[in-house]
Parts: sequence; structure tokens; C-alpha cells
Amino acid sequence: MKILFFGPNGSGKGTQGAILKDKYHLPHIESGAIFRENIKGGTELGAKAKAYIDRGDLVPDEVTIPMILNRLKQDDCKKGWLLDGFPRNKNQAIKLDEALKKAGIALDIVVEIVLDRQIAKNRIMGRRLCVNDNNHPNNIYIDAIKPKDGKCRVCGGELKTRSDDQDEDAINKRHDIYYDKKTGTLASAYYFKDLSAKNKLIKYITLDGGPGVKEVTADLVSKL
Ligand code: AMP
Repeated sequence: MKILFFGPNGSGKGTQGAILKDKYHLPHIESGAIFRENIKGGTELGAKAKAYIDRGDLVPDEVTIPMILNRLKQDDCKKGWLLDGFPRNKNQAIKLDEALKKAGIALDIVVEIVLDRQIAKNRIMGRRLCVNDNNHPNNIYIDAIKPKDGKCRVCGGELKTRSDDQDEDAINKRHDIYYDKKTGTLASAYYFKDLSAKNKLIKYITLDGGPGVKEVTADLVSKL
């Protein structure tokens, strides 16, 4: 199963993505997480990406596209993958489509979570990351996933904020990129929506990200 996952920062994309990953036993390839691991590990890639990430800008395509296309060639991706955070602009969408066609790989599902920009922004500012597992959802503004006594609600681990989550200018910049239908992330989602309209083997699923986590999950599961 090869899945692309779109949603603005703050839409619950990580949470819903984790559900798909578990259901289909897929490696969850998150471009943002790969960058963060590289920054933490002090790699050359991390050094190249850090300033862009801190500002909320996209890391240049010359760095990001080969990084993801190489990741998809690794052994654990042979049976499928869940790609999250990539493609993020139209150029990345075109390059991904070309690379998949060249490799004879067919996309199965594209998921788009639709959410109002202001709601997405509030949710980001409440997000807390578990030091033990990126996929443990915690948010101080969402009742269903509120931390327990200041610790991760899943495992009790310490919680951190992401520096780029607390910076309003950076959030606005990330959302400018996401909601841009001409060249940004929505343009890349719509690129695949058009492909899905022509090729019935690619299923394009639209989810309303407004309700709680459980409702969105139920909607996702019912549409798979
Ligand atoms: P995320 O964890 O998806 O919010 O990504 C965090 C940051 O990593 C983004 O704000 C970008 O600076 C960078 N990033 C993640 N994915 C991409 C991508 N596909 N293209 C360029 N930059 C990216």
C-alpha cells in the first residue's frame, strides 16, 4: 500500500497517519521528522536544513527531493509506505510522480485533511511532543488528547514543544505554503487529485479535520 497524506500543520495529520501506518504495517516516512533527526544527530543534512526549518521556510528542493526519493528506495519501503509532509509544493509533486512512474510504482491512496486555517493554528500552538515517541498525540487545547499531569498521555514520557510550533510567524509562513493552491502544498495535493480523476486505481480521500480525533479516524476508516 502506497499512501500520500496531506493536511495543514495542526490538522491531526500525524495522528491519523499513525493509524494508517498501524493498519497497513507501513513505514511512516515523515520529511519533517527526518530533518529533525538529522539536526539532532548533527549531520551535514541537518545543518543545511536547520535555518530554513526555524524560519518556517521549505528546505530547498535540491536537498529534500533526493532525500525522500532515496528513502523510498530502502528495503523497508518495498511493500509500501506512508509519505507524510512530502510533497510540499507542486515541483515536489511532479518529481515524485515522475520517480514513481520510472520505478513502476503505483500510488494507492491519497488522503487530504481539510481544516480551517485559524483552527489549525490554535491546534499547533497547543501541540506537545513525547520524547519517547513522535506518534503519541498530546495537545493541551484538545480534550481527547490532553496530556496527563503534564506528561505524555500514552506512556507518561516527558513532553516538549517544537521551537517552530511556538513561533507565530513561522506558523503563518508554513500555512501560507500549505494553503497555496497555485504552487504550494494544496497545489501538490490537487495534482494527485487530478491524477486520481483520470486513474481510478488511485483513491483520493477527503476528510473534514474539524471534529475530534475519534470522529476523523472513523471517517478515515469508513472511506478506506
Ligand atoms: P513538519 O514536521 O512536516 O511540520 O516539517 C517541519 C519543517 O521541515 C517544515 O516547516 C520545513 O521547513 C521542513 N520540511 C518538511 N517537509 C518538507 C518538504 N517536503 N519540503 C521542504 N521542506 C520540508
